[in-house]
Amino acid sequence: MDQRIGTRARAQWEKSEPVIRTLEACEDVLWLNPAYGQQTASFVSADDVADAEARLRRFAPYLVKAFPETRGSEGMIESPIYALPSFQKWLEQQEKMKAPGTFLMKADSELPISGSIKARGGIYEVLKTAEDLAIRTGRLSKNENYACLADPGFRAFFANYALAVGSTGNLGLSIGIVGARLGFQTTVHMSRDASAWKKRMLRKQGAQVKEYESDYSKAVQEGRKQARQDPHCHFIDDERSKDLFAGYATAGARLQRQLRESGVVVNGDHPLFVYLPCGVGGAPGGVTFGLKLVFGDAVHVFFVEPAHAPCFLLGLLTGLHDKVSVCDFGLDNRTVADGLAVPRPSAFAGKAVGSLISGCMTVKDSDLFRILKALKDTENHWIEPSAAAGFIGPKRLLGTKEGKRYLERHNLADKMDQAVHVFWATGGGMVPQKNRNAYYDQASRI
Ligand SMILES: *Cc1c(COP(=O)(O)O)cnc(C)c1O
Repeated sequence: MDQRIGTRARAQWEKSEPVIRTLEACEDVLWLNPAYGQQTASFVSADDVADAEARLRRFAPYLVKAFPETRGSEGMIESPIYALPSFQKWLEQQEKMKAPGTFLMKADSELPISGSIKARGGIYEVLKTAEDLAIRTGRLSKNENYACLADPGFRAFFANYALAVGSTGNLGLSIGIVGARLGFQTTVHMSRDASAWKKRMLRKQGAQVKEYESDYSKAVQEGRKQARQDPHCHFIDDERSKDLFAGYATAGARLQRQLRESGVVVNGDHPLFVYLPCGVGGAPGGVTFGLKLVFGDAVHVFFVEPAHAPCFLLGLLTGLHDKVSVCDFGLDNRTVADGLAVPRPSAFAGKAVGSLISGCMTVKDSDLFRILKALKDTENHWIEPSAAAGFIGPKRLLGTKEGKRYLERHNLADKMDQAVHVFWATGGGMVPQKNRNAYYDQASRI
């Protein structure tokens, strides 16, 4: 029996889209997005992003009080950018290629509270849920000082409500930590890929952890189903949530300010390349939306996925989005990049940013290990394997014929000396030392 994927048989897909064969073989891919630059319906607006930024500002006094580690940034959850001159040299030597321009790492691995990109969207949606409840019941108004939300009275109030989320780990950590601190009953539904230490840490924070012997999509489905039965439960839906998306998108204007403050110029003659590790596509999608709002055509965004789980690429390529699984093409979704180990993309991220991203890349686990170790050895930055995915960007862009075609098509080939490459280091801050050592040792054996 011929297996149907959408309207076509697998063999027909392979014939019409030759890159699929390369993906099936888990080989390195740089896929240029044919829809880049086209018009698409907008799911989230610039106003939604501005609204999210304003809400985060209202919450700053609460965050300073409830999470003293945010005091230095006055309650803003933001990460530093770092120059990577030694890593850049390493890459040039290692790959025997020229990689001109400025290399920068956006260190979401150091975001306060939960040490990953999920602190942007995940924490934002928890805060918005709390604000909505408090305002709706007449307990809070928008011009009050939100520090009051840390009072025992509010904790008792939020204890009547529940939050739930499906997660491979980092989203669960963000939501579990902030949800529990506000007083919510918080349940995290976790797939088999979630590490034991993440489950342990969550339970210690007071969140309930439900474990599933299945993949991430299944854990989300189950969590969604259980949450629906409880009218007092808000399910934070990584595959569908516009609030998560808006929270992630606030990163655009913040990066713009940071680059400006560091004297880094971005414009038509100084192109900006941003490489984002991608799981379901929500976090990188939201960030892309925010980047395009501020940088427009001067920014070129690439998503990077594990070779064993290129769900976002397959969702865009087939136009099937969440209706396609990497398993349909014989892939197993097994990767050391646990934050990216998802078989199906978000139902709406691909539709929302399908015309904003320049392309998708895949990366092998062995390269993730090599990058993780090199970044530690050359720059002394620690990141988790998922967060290493973006660092493969220049090798694909500058070292493949697809990459060269992209640069030529967009008149960029002669501007690469002034180019800025930003690697979004999406996580690692919460990884216990023991697990860091184990990753490093494993990397040393490759
Ligand atoms: C979740 C996550 C991503 C990707 O986010 P998606 O919304 O799943 O695409 C990337 N890196 C890390 C470390 C993550 O935890």
